[in-house]
Amino acid sequence: MTSITVRLSRPYDVLIAPGLLDRAGELLRPLAKSDRAALICGDLVYPLYADRAVRALEGAGFRVCIKVIPHGETHKNLSTYAGILSFLEENELGRNDLIVALGGGVTGDLAGFAAASWHRGCPFAQIPTTLLAAVDASVGGKSAIDLPGGKNQVGFFYQPLAVLCDPELFATLPPRELRCGLAEVVKTAVLFDRPLFDSLRGGYESERAEELVARCVSHKRLLVERDEFDRGERRLLNLGHSFGHAIERRSAYALSHGEAIAIGMSMIARAAAKRALCTAETAEEIVSLLRTLGLPTDCSFPAVELLEALRHDKKRSADTLRLVVPREIGRCELLEVSLAELPGWLRDGGAP
Ligand code: NAD
Repeated sequence: MTSITVRLSRPYDVLIAPGLLDRAGELLRPLAKSDRAALICGDLVYPLYADRAVRALEGAGFRVCIKVIPHGETHKNLSTYAGILSFLEENELGRNDLIVALGGGVTGDLAGFAAASWHRGCPFAQIPTTLLAAVDASVGGKSAIDLPGGKNQVGFFYQPLAVLCDPELFATLPPRELRCGLAEVVKTAVLFDRPLFDSLRGGYESERAEELVARCVSHKRLLVERDEFDRGERRLLNLGHSFGHAIERRSAYALSHGEAIAIGMSMIARAAAKRALCTAETAEEIVSLLRTLGLPTDCSFPAVELLEALRHDKKRSADTLRLVVPREIGRCELLEVSLAELPGWLRDGGAP
């Protein structure tokens, strides 16, 4: 088993190993303050893994109630959040009781948001079931829900008690969801890790899942430990996300998060090369790796429409937006860009 301690305001371990789902109770019970647990689970994950999770938790002495939520980004909203709160109220969950997220990034973000706000914060654990949630969303303590105006507009920094990652759960992921996880792995590689980048050309191999997750979590851990509240260098993790979030929103979430981020990374790489911030070869390497992995790299939405979506970006100040720009594979920088310059960046990135 790989164990990575994340040393933040509330330190916790990310445990990674096959079979961890069945050990969830034994691993979480010593950390919990009570014997009650509310399992929050997406409707597609429920028939696959909820029984095993409940058995594991009950086997360790937890009394478990389950809330099943609808899947998909369009449900990461106030209405699903309200449904979770009603469920916690009906089940009289106390402030020492545990909320467990079993699912992808949508479930983790919603359950974390609910845990952070329930009685001003109750204990919370994550069991990520997608590659994307394992390598990125479940670590670092960000939780959020979307508003009609934009993604992740309301949220908390709220650290879990533990993250239990069982890579065997990725076996049931549709290929599209695996590819989306790989987009965040490519992001990590472009930010920090040339050897990881090179190793991805062969595609995803399930035997490497534990190592891939451990490597990405180790990189993210170092960054969030230095900047827990996203005031400085943690913002590097937004590589591809400013344009990506705008694309995701503009597509009305027909494009998934990972796909939109892949397009966003390709755009920023192309635009950076045009400005000689990185070489044309670097940009081409990034775009061609994403393509090799089956991810989209071209933007079909006009720059004017993306600009409207970018108005809601949280990284925006009155007249600038902070972009993350690749300088070479393994090294990126933050760059403040004026809103007036953005149309040029979007067009150089390939937006019509
Ligand atoms: P997701 O949670 O929507 O999961 C993708 C799909 O896979 C869903 O339909 C889900 O039901 C299904 N699924 C999940 N696990 C499965 C399994 N093991 N087998 C079969 N199907 C399974 O999407 P995601 O890609 O995991 O996460 C994207 C979300 O994460 C976005 O909302 C994004 O904003 C958020 N995110 C948050 C952070 C953070 O730091 N909090 C970081 C990155 C992304």
